[in-house]
Amino acid sequence: MPVKLPGYSPSPHSAAGRARLGGVSGPKPDWLRIKVETGPGYNRVRRLMRELSLHTVCEEARCPNVFECWTRGTATIMVLGDVCTRRCGFCAVATGRPAAPPDPAEPDNVARAVAELGLKHVVITSVDRDDLPDGGAAHFAAVVRALHAALPECAVEVLTPDFKQDPERALELVLAERPAIFSHNIETVPELYRVARPGSRFEHSLDLLRRASARKAAFGGRTKTAIMLGLGETDAQVHGTMRAVREAGVDIMAMGQYLRPTAEHLPVQRYVSPAEFARFRDFGLGLGFAHVEAGPLVRSSYHAEQQAGG
Ligand code: SF4
Repeated sequence: MPVKLPGYSPSPHSAAGRARLGGVSGPKPDWLRIKVETGPGYNRVRRLMRELSLHTVCEEARCPNVFECWTRGTATIMVLGDVCTRRCGFCAVATGRPAAPPDPAEPDNVARAVAELGLKHVVITSVDRDDLPDGGAAHFAAVVRALHAALPECAVEVLTPDFKQDPERALELVLAERPAIFSHNIETVPELYRVARPGSRFEHSLDLLRRASARKAAFGGRTKTAIMLGLGETDAQVHGTMRAVREAGVDIMAMGQYLRPTAEHLPVQRYVSPAEFARFRDFGLGLGFAHVEAGPLVRSSYHAEQQAGG
């Protein structure tokens, strides 16, 4: 069982604090309506994950695309357990002190799941594991190794934590396994880190992306990041963040609408229209990103298989 950290509350804000933050009210715009449809593909992914004791960020983070992605037979596997040591105000993943060390069977179980799903591209992510000396980097490396050994044709994308203990050593371990994409999510603009990511620092995340991008020739892959819009950022702040990320050498950027997972999480401050997302995408392409995936329901792993090549 996860142990709750002292003083923990699911959001960094009290009820009074959340009330002060305000946010939009009323029904969601039409472009955020989701078709809830499950079929054989959805049930197959669900059964497989249960059978192999695997977690997905699709379920744990309450991703709005879970019906579409699972029905298509794709999922983002979340390794290193289902309890995160950070307390981001936007994230639905359970938080606390993980009760168990990394599962040594997990790398092979991930490879079995991906083989059974027949994926040509898989995204592997994790909770933050600040309780581990390497932040979980060796486990990430073991998962990529197992996938490459079992499925040499499958492109592996890793979406990692910030490895704040020792980013250089963590990158050495993970990039030695030559993932097709190294991804780390910047999540929001630096001005909102204190509110949205109280345990993290923008500069540290940017530095991790910069270090990984500097090693692209050595590991032979691309680098990627993602942010959510609707947490209270201005367009100018989004542009500044995109510019900083591009200057760090990142190739791919994903941008989507923040959706409040529960009333305990940060409120939505604005709904960004598809036309506004299209303008951000054009801005990003103008900065030189190889690919910008931008839209209300875009998540970092949404249509990820289309971003690896070229
Ligand atoms: S967008 Fe990513 S996290 Fe969401 S359901 Fe699809 S694969 Fe899972």
